[in-house]
Amino acid sequence: MALAECPELAMGLQKSAVRPAADEKESGCMSRIIDKPYFTYSAYSALTLGIQAKCSKCQGAGVVTADRDNAFFRCHGCGHQMTRDCTVYRYDVHNQCRNCGRYYRVEIQDEAKRRFPVLHVACPYCKTRMPGEVLRTAQGFSYADEIREGKEPYFGLELWFLAYFQGKPVWAVNREHLAYLIDYLSADLREKPFGLPKRTQADHLPTFMKTAKNRERIVKLLKKMQGGAD
Ligand SMILES: [Zn+2]
Ligand SMILES: [Zn+2]
Repeated sequence: MALAECPELAMGLQKSAVRPAADEKESGCMSRIIDKPYFTYSAYSALTLGIQAKCSKCQGAGVVTADRDNAFFRCHGCGHQMTRDCTVYRYDVHNQCRNCGRYYRVEIQDEAKRRFPVLHVACPYCKTRMPGEVLRTAQGFSYADEIREGKEPYFGLELWFLAYFQGKPVWAVNREHLAYLIDYLSADLREKPFGLPKRTQADHLPTFMKTAKNRERIVKLLKKMQGGAD
């Protein structure tokens, strides 16, 4: 790929921004990057390094993290904190039918009905309606949606590393992601990780970021975020 771009790129790059390749000597000034798995930097980052987001109270920098049950936000500036239960629950009425004597379980899908401790449901076998206790069981953690319009999906806060390029959001979930983007877009050779599924981290990137004609300006924008924020 574009060998001619090399000297210029090499000068503009910090040493740390280029992942040293095993055969770097052979490849001369070519910088290569091996891409990362698809979910490395995404809404899932809340479970690992955290997502850096803007505080809704003071506009300062804060971090969104998550564990198996909850998502948390903590502002480094004003100390504002939020917690959101991210567990997905299943609601069922468990009962023994008064009419036919069979045990049954009926799932309650209607959100509004889930608030009641007791509900009238029909026995699935003989259709007799009777009251039964609503039981709540945790089914797992809801791995929130993707990042949309520069907002994290847990609290809807704007990402800390967010800028616009020709009206389109350019963002990073955290400092590590930002460094990855700079590495990735600055590299001359982009390789898929060996033996991993087809989709990789770079598949998150919109085309306008990967287009050769925009790449240099996007990298500049990302570097500005890297230097100015936090
Ligand atoms: Zn704050
Ligand atoms: Zn019955």
